[in-house]
Amino acid sequence: AFGRQGKQLIAKLDTGVLGLHMGMTGRLGVMAPEDESFRYRRLALYLDDERRLELDDVRRWAMVRLENDVETFTGRMGPDALDPDFTSAQFIERVSAKRSPIKSVLLDQKVLAGVGNIYADEVLLIVGVSPSRRADKISAGRLESLHNTIVGVLENALAFIESHPDDQGRPYVIDAQDDRMQIPRKTGAPCPQCETALKSKKIGGRTAYYCPSCQH
Ligand SMILES: [Zn+2]
Repeated sequence: AFGRQGKQLIAKLDTGVLGLHMGMTGRLGVMAPEDESFRYRRLALYLDDERRLELDDVRRWAMVRLENDVETFTGRMGPDALDPDFTSAQFIERVSAKRSPIKSVLLDQKVLAGVGNIYADEVLLIVGVSPSRRADKISAGRLESLHNTIVGVLENALAFIESHPDDQGRPYVIDAQDDRMQIPRKTGAPCPQCETALKSKKIGGRTAYYCPSCQH
């Protein structure tokens, strides 16, 4: 069985610990012996019952590592965004200690594990916070709604994936538009809330899409 912290999947094997990270285009499938393999199969693990676990990744951004212990994967990672023991108060404390743009802080897996580039843009639009606003300049009240929004958006995304089993965790880069998110990743596309043309800019090396009217 796999455990998960943030975007890292972890499985304890008889010898060692297997870590899988899907990157942006990786996905897993469990196949019966007669099933056809994924087109871009990068890894196949044969299970005791003859089924096999396959990793499909067209862009080769996924990561597979075998280590001796779980801490190698999780030791430097912040709490999982959906950990029920991780409270809004703890979120506010961790985030407001940072002077970087909020978008970069949300992507920093050492602060909080599990929020990726697309989800960060999505939650910032919903709460109306500009991606370039300094984290320590955001009020506690807005950070609390940001935390609640992160939990809600990630739970929706997991529910979407669970209710679409045939898609086997459809990758984001290939299918960047589906019910998991509202914000179109295209400069000039209409804001889903006010129809103002969206803008984009690089923050910490990643492209942020945002609405100049809704986000401050
Ligand atoms: Zn807007």
